[in-house]
Amino acid sequence: MRFCPLCSGSSGNSTYIEAGNIRILIDAGLSCKRITALMNEIGADPAQLTAILVTHEHSDHIKGIEILSSKYSVPVYANRECWSAMRNQMARVKPSEICVFESDKTFYIGGVEVFPFTTYHDSVHSVGFVIRHKEHKVAVCTDIGHIDKRILEILSGCELVLLEANHDVDMLMAGSYPYLLKKRILSGTGHLCNEDCANTLVELYHRGVRNAILGHLSKENNYPELALITVHSALKAAGIDDKMQIALALRDQPTGIFEL
Ligand SMILES: [Zn+2]
Ligand SMILES: [Zn+2]
Repeated sequence: MRFCPLCSGSSGNSTYIEAGNIRILIDAGLSCKRITALMNEIGADPAQLTAILVTHEHSDHIKGIEILSSKYSVPVYANRECWSAMRNQMARVKPSEICVFESDKTFYIGGVEVFPFTTYHDSVHSVGFVIRHKEHKVAVCTDIGHIDKRILEILSGCELVLLEANHDVDMLMAGSYPYLLKKRILSGTGHLCNEDCANTLVELYHRGVRNAILGHLSKENNYPELALITVHSALKAAGIDDKMQIALALRDQPTGIFEL
């Protein structure tokens, strides 16, 4: 399996996953042209995509999907609520490419098992994804206001998790965002802060996770170094800093190919 975040952050999100002969994009939140360029950089081709999976209807996750799908005839998978919320932005997706999944129910794309799990975010019905192929299991979990036992269980045993480290709470509070936006981000259905991401990773270590990529960093309310320091401090305090590999997803270029 190959796993590559193409872009990550509030400006646009997309992750490319290759498993056997199946090629998947999770979200495509930049223009079709830009996603194509990013895929080409890692030797991938949108014309060969098997599917695009959608986490939720926010534009930083769906911007390029309509054109990618219509231009290259790629099926788009989303839950019913998400489809109705993004209908206007998907007018050119052919009816035959519209695929509806049920959240919290496993489905298959060829030999790849996909589990879309409900997340806590202010959209109509957002999900994260666990992708399994043979003995490999990876997850994408961003745009989530808080983590609870259910989410920890779902992410248990993943070989690699792309987890949100959206903001530093002090930076957000001191920053220029309007009060209501700050409140939205900090809420249990907003975005995950560095501290919560760090504590989640400590929990996940005890559930078999050894590799993580921090993603969906805010441009205004976070620094890559700060997210990394917060996570490493928590791992160090738990005595596991040297036992976990932590990478950081880049905002607007491929982070690198993780071969599993
Ligand atoms: Zn969102
Ligand atoms: Zn987002």
